Amino acid sequence: MTDTLLSESLASARKRLARALYAAERPAAAARLLAVSKTKPAAMIRAAWALGQREFGESYVQEALEKQAELRDLNGIIWHFIGPLQSNKSRAVAERFDWVHSVDRDKLARRLNEQRPTELPPLNVCLQVNVSGEASKSGVDFEALPALAETILALPRLRLRGLMAIPAPAATLEAQRAPLARLHQALEALRARFPEAELDTLSMGMSDDLEAAILEGATLVRLGTAIFGAREP
Ligand SMILES: *Cc1c(COP(=O)(O)O)cnc(C)c1O
Repeated sequence: MTDTLLSESLASARKRLARALYAAERPAAAARLLAVSKTKPAAMIRAAWALGQREFGESYVQEALEKQAELRDLNGIIWHFIGPLQSNKSRAVAERFDWVHSVDRDKLARRLNEQRPTELPPLNVCLQVNVSGEASKSGVDFEALPALAETILALPRLRLRGLMAIPAPAATLEAQRAPLARLHQALEALRARFPEAELDTLSMGMSDDLEAAILEGATLVRLGTAIFGAREP
């Protein structure tokens, strides 16, 4: 993708988000764009950064580390880890990322807490919730969510910020909205239960369901294809 194309697709992604927020009668700053750069070269991240994009999402540890090394000069870049995370790769995420969206179990949380360097601020964490039942293997079930949240709130090197989900694809806006509404309800329930926690993040909405996610209260939408174009399989 050329820099001109990227500039156009980023501008239209921003417009699309702004329009969706307006349609949902939410403030323009109520949600922000996370640019999902997995499989895309460091040069594309640099180009998006030059256009004002600051938050980037990566799904593969090794690939992300290589790109981060190339982009060390980009001040203020914010790295989000959004992919499935094996416990044996947690150290790199604890040391190199600002956020992780895919925490779904105690053991992983405890490792990230132990491995987060003390000279860095606490690692921002979203719990990945399995909103689609059988259709997904990753994510904590709704029923187990309060206990996992309680564990994480007690870990000093982690900062629990909210919930994340990857719903199964759905054909209609209404079908897209249902699991996202449940995720929002689950966040409200956690807020009621843990009023002292800073639960301000609903990470949901991708290139195909951004409008549904914004209607259901998303605060961080994760766009890959809509910004950087299709990925190689
Ligand atoms: C790849 C990915 C995205 C981006 O998906 P697009 O459909 O390309 O917008 C968002 N979230 C997660 C967790 C992903 O792995």
